[in-house]
Amino acid sequence: MTMIADKLHKVHERIETAATQFGRSANSVTLLAVSKTYGPDAVREAYAAGQQAFGENYIQEGVEKITALRDLPLQWHCIGPIQSNKTRLVAEHFDWVHTIDRLKTAERLSAQRPATMAPLQVCIQVNVDGGPTKSGVVPSEAMALARAITALPNLRLRGIMCIPEPAPDFVSALALHERARLVFEELRGEGLTLDTLSIGMSADLEAAIAAGSTMVRVGTAIFGSRGG
Ligand SMILES: *Cc1c(COP(=O)(O)O)cnc(C)c1O
Repeated sequence: MTMIADKLHKVHERIETAATQFGRSANSVTLLAVSKTYGPDAVREAYAAGQQAFGENYIQEGVEKITALRDLPLQWHCIGPIQSNKTRLVAEHFDWVHTIDRLKTAERLSAQRPATMAPLQVCIQVNVDGGPTKSGVVPSEAMALARAITALPNLRLRGIMCIPEPAPDFVSALALHERARLVFEELRGEGLTLDTLSIGMSADLEAAIAAGSTMVRVGTAIFGSRGG
């Protein structure tokens, strides 16, 4: 096995162990491999080991990789902040966006999505731990934004995404992820058909799965430390 294949395998084992421990089926949790800062070769290696969904934070870097890897049937997720002047690049290249936190961004993405492509699959980023400078809507604003997004023709709202502050232990990580789960349930309780709760990274995927994550975004545990 290559090193990436080996690490990928270990991450799948962690997901399976956590799913079993918390009474869920392992296939209810999708693994998104976060390839930011790693080159196309690393993505090819992960693909050869069975991984198809990849996440990128930096739009320009993501678009370069997407273009270089056109020959592979990959699914690309934008998981970084999107400035207004970058919405067209995102709309024309990515399959998913996890970081919608303003209606303006959603409107631009819908307007700029090429008619030849499937609707852009989107999640609202929710700020569950309240830092005022952080990205994401506060939980009380999520419902209004969700309703507005469902009216846009070229977007399909799938759920919510959160990036809580790193927590020192399982119990505190779980408490933060549970807040995300509550927002998710609240939206679903209002009749929105959502299937994606995008929470959990390399350090806290077990706590996220305990809280109901359906998509964990894992970088360093697959590709190694980004350094710096
Ligand atoms: C970098 C990043 C990840 C992956 O983090 P790791 O700790 O490397 O697993 C997940 N989500 C977002 C939004 C990121 O920026």
